[in-house]
Amino acid sequence: MVDAEDSMECPECMDLLADYVDGSLPRHQAELLEWHLEGCGPCVAFVKTYKGTVDAAKRLRETTLPPELKEKLRAFLKRSAQP
Ligand SMILES: [Zn+2]
Repeated sequence: MVDAEDSMECPECMDLLADYVDGSLPRHQAELLEWHLEGCGPCVAFVKTYKGTVDAAKRLRETTLPPELKEKLRAFLKRSAQP
């Protein structure tokens, strides 16, 4: 069982997804995120959508994700997390 202060809400999860998919999220936070994803279908769906976009961008550029695209996706995910 995870302590309440260590658990993660969906908006926080969305906020970390960009870094998680990018591979730049610290291990501890990545684990919390993965723990949240295990019990949250909507967030899993977002990860799949987001990861697909990132992979497509990486294939096109064969480099790291452009910061502006990352910000755009981050904003999109944040909006999507709103009720
Ligand atoms: Zn969630």
